[in-house]
Amino acid sequence: MRWQGQRESDNVEDVRSDSGGGTGGGFGGLPIGGRGLSLGGVVVALIAGWIFGINPLALLGLMDGGGPAPQAQREVAPSHPTDERARFASVVLADTEDVWGAIMGRSQRRYEPPRMVLFRGRTQTACGQGEAAAGPFYCPADRKVYIDLSFFDVLSQRLGAPGDFAQAYVIAHEVGHHMQTELGLTQRVDAQRQRLGQAQANALSVRLELQADCFAGVWAHHSQKGKNWLEAGDIEEALNAASQIGDDTLQRRSRGTVVPESFTHGSSAQRVMWFKRGLQTGQPAQCNTFETAGS
Ligand SMILES: [Zn+2]
Repeated sequence: MRWQGQRESDNVEDVRSDSGGGTGGGFGGLPIGGRGLSLGGVVVALIAGWIFGINPLALLGLMDGGGPAPQAQREVAPSHPTDERARFASVVLADTEDVWGAIMGRSQRRYEPPRMVLFRGRTQTACGQGEAAAGPFYCPADRKVYIDLSFFDVLSQRLGAPGDFAQAYVIAHEVGHHMQTELGLTQRVDAQRQRLGQAQANALSVRLELQADCFAGVWAHHSQKGKNWLEAGDIEEALNAASQIGDDTLQRRSRGTVVPESFTHGSSAQRVMWFKRGLQTGQPAQCNTFETAGS
């Protein structure tokens, strides 16, 4: 991906210097995100966390008044970080702003882009405490994408999905959750989930996640059209990432068996299929994962 020199977003909040709290913590008391990073622990946590994509508290409906009051968050002014990794994330975020702004504009709607919070270890969000071990996530309550950039090491080294475009796909997937919130879909699915049993609620989560994958594909379609910045192998990197973080693949890796009813993100084949559909069509309307037979 030829991203150097492209516009960086004005919506990045960099709290890496103050998050983590220095208290260790992290998943199961493991110091996550610091030098003591236990990759085994991270992978286990990923099964529980990354696959949620949206902060579990938000999905459980705890944000709707019945739950704990959101803790006060520090107001952080957006900035332009100078390290390469952050700049890359910022460029990708900026491009999602261009793409979704244009798509929404076509139907006379204004796109309110999300902020992206770069943190280390843990951070306070309107959806509760965010943990790096849970992987990147989107909080609908404050409309921010949260990411600890060290996740990209996990993605590349432990989850077998290297490459810059694999990283771009992850960011675009989280922005896809923001689009769902902008469109009111997150809220509707949330309300529905609360009336369902676990297996059915999981099935709805899968639909939401697959749609975010499809939206990521829609972004990739228009991104390439607008900037022509993809290089050989980039699409394959994203497709491989979608495959490596399918629920069946993650489960097989972590415990050797696969339990489809427990899926919350969809199988590898589903994730690849929906990303491809968005990529090939470039149309959000093609991402109706809720009314589809079988796949
Ligand atoms: Zn997700």
